[in-house]
Amino acid sequence: MKAQVYLFNASYREPFTISLGTSTVTTNVIIRIEKNDIEGWGEASPSPRILRDDIDYIIKTLENIYPEIQKLDELTPEKIYEVIHSSSGSLSAKAGLEIALLDIWSKEIGKPLYKLLGGYRDFIETDITIGIMEPEEQAKRALRYVEEGFRIIKLKLGLDPDKDVKRVRTVRDVVGEGIKIRVDANQGWSVKEAIKVIDKISDYDVELVEQPVKYDDIEGLVRVKKESSIPIAADESVKTPEDAIRVIKKEAVDIINIKLMKSEGILGAIKIASISEAAGIKNMIGCMGESRLGITAAVHTALAIRNIQYYDLDSDLLLTDDPVISGGALRDNSKRFIRYGKGLCIENIDLTKLKYHKEF
Ligand code: MG
Repeated sequence: MKAQVYLFNASYREPFTISLGTSTVTTNVIIRIEKNDIEGWGEASPSPRILRDDIDYIIKTLENIYPEIQKLDELTPEKIYEVIHSSSGSLSAKAGLEIALLDIWSKEIGKPLYKLLGGYRDFIETDITIGIMEPEEQAKRALRYVEEGFRIIKLKLGLDPDKDVKRVRTVRDVVGEGIKIRVDANQGWSVKEAIKVIDKISDYDVELVEQPVKYDDIEGLVRVKKESSIPIAADESVKTPEDAIRVIKKEAVDIINIKLMKSEGILGAIKIASISEAAGIKNMIGCMGESRLGITAAVHTALAIRNIQYYDLDSDLLLTDDPVISGGALRDNSKRFIRYGKGLCIENIDLTKLKYHKEF
């Protein structure tokens, strides 16, 4: 069973600013594994500011774990999870590797991955994210997205509390009622600022507030949630199932945002969803800078699992390039779905868009 690693470079359609910094390009690691003529594809999208990983760390992690995978007598989800979860290294690398292995596992069975993992729904409705910019500019983008068929707008906030209130007000004025607005401060506010901003934006029908304060300030999240009339979601505070238990024990949030790149892949994501469900907490699913390949894996997860009820699977729509030629996650206005096939249901990958890196 050979694995090849490729690099995929893509630019953002416009500079994407969140409270932690601005991105203009992304380089993702794409993994191809071949087992008895069955191809499995996966993708790792690094996030230096949140996951503290980069391309070198991802590749080193893959090189360390892959020999352990090759020792498995059988590729089954629990055996794959055991190897991946007990290894150290980059979370996104483990996600990319696991996605490729589950692509093979489900192709061997001959069904779409989401049908095997839970098969709960046939489509999801994603939001579309607008980075931090002047309030009038954010409103202009919001209006354009609504015209393109999106009905949920996610606004990035967190750099300036007063302007953040203005951002939400300006966007709500422009899109009117009937469009959902959710916001994400990416840890940008102090507890005091968060409570103040949330109180003010609660006039504008905001669906949820993501990660208002620092990722490790769980007590701060508790205080914000207590004062907030808007549901609070953890993103950076919860990467793995173990993190989910930590915030749930403290009753720190209403929603946990799962990302495959944080949870070491789909199986960790499902474990977080199970823990959340048992605690009466809903899940959101989001993304880092994945292309449509990685987004396809996230859409399968979202289609499979009932407790995942908020969707932020739009990173591929913000990028200029797409390595998937046919199949995979498709889009119709704000809906995303899988049409047919086996495994991830990706039919063709454009090798000319990938840069070969190495084999092991
Ligand atoms: Mg977030």
